[in-house]
Amino acid sequence: MQAFDLSGKVALVTGGNGGIGLGIARGLAKAGAALAIVGRSPEKLAAATAELERLAAKGAKVMGLACDVSDEAAVAAMVEEIAAGLGRLDILVNNAGTNIRKRPEDLAADEWHRVMDANLTSTFLCSKACYPQMKAAGGGKILNNGSMLSIFGAPWSPAYGASKGGVVQLTRSLAAAWARDNIQVNCMLPGWIDTDLTQRARSEIEGLNEHVLQRTPAKRWGRPADFEGLAAFFAGPASDFITGAALPVDGGFSISL
Ligand code: NDP
Repeated sequence: MQAFDLSGKVALVTGGNGGIGLGIARGLAKAGAALAIVGRSPEKLAAATAELERLAAKGAKVMGLACDVSDEAAVAAMVEEIAAGLGRLDILVNNAGTNIRKRPEDLAADEWHRVMDANLTSTFLCSKACYPQMKAAGGGKILNNGSMLSIFGAPWSPAYGASKGGVVQLTRSLAAAWARDNIQVNCMLPGWIDTDLTQRARSEIEGLNEHVLQRTPAKRWGRPADFEGLAAFFAGPASDFITGAALPVDGGFSISL
């Protein structure tokens, strides 16, 4: 299983303190990587760091860092702290994200910017900040988090949909730019996954649970555990000739009417 072995590698997972990001961090820890997870809530960070330390391979350290990934100076300081604490940086998962569910006519400009900054600008800032470390190491892996709203439109998520469409295009630009540095950049497109983010959506969007179950051929919501193997695949040698791809992880939602 060398193609999935991440021993000796260091991974940064934004939003790795909960939901899909924690599922990804668990997968990377099980594959042998040392980890830095980043979020804003100290309580969630402490709990996730303690859990990941129990999962981590012998000698693989886990760091939990509080940082707003939409703040350029904070991102630069965070990447420096990781390089100093863990010695290198090979894998970046741009997973942190948020949503404000409002119709376009009700969405304020500052709400638009908050969503774009958390989802799209953060992906650019973290990728740019990690690039020198990856280049110096002779290669790296970046995995971005899109959405079904990278493909579809929804009346209640104009900023989120624009940001997640942008994440796919940014993935392609970074992949084209950094292929010569042996850095592969890919994107996952999760379907409906049971996390804090969608717990809120279930209460805000009438009939959502029934819609998801009816339309998803797998007949269930996704779970953070569905991302463990995918993360090891995109972070390891198994995916060395795949770059700029956007892969649905959706139980068939995007191919079914
Ligand atoms: P969660 O709300 O559980 O996780 C979001 C994570 O992002 C949290 O850990 C949060 O940490 C962190 N975060 C948000 N904003 C910032 C910020 N500015 N700086 C640092 N960390 C931040 O939701 P999910 O796990 O569902 O979402 C993870 C990603 O998956 C998002 O990008 C989301 O858009 C995407 N996605 C989710 C889907 C789903 O069905 N759940 C479907 C498609 C895509 P903290 O609370 O500490 O700030």
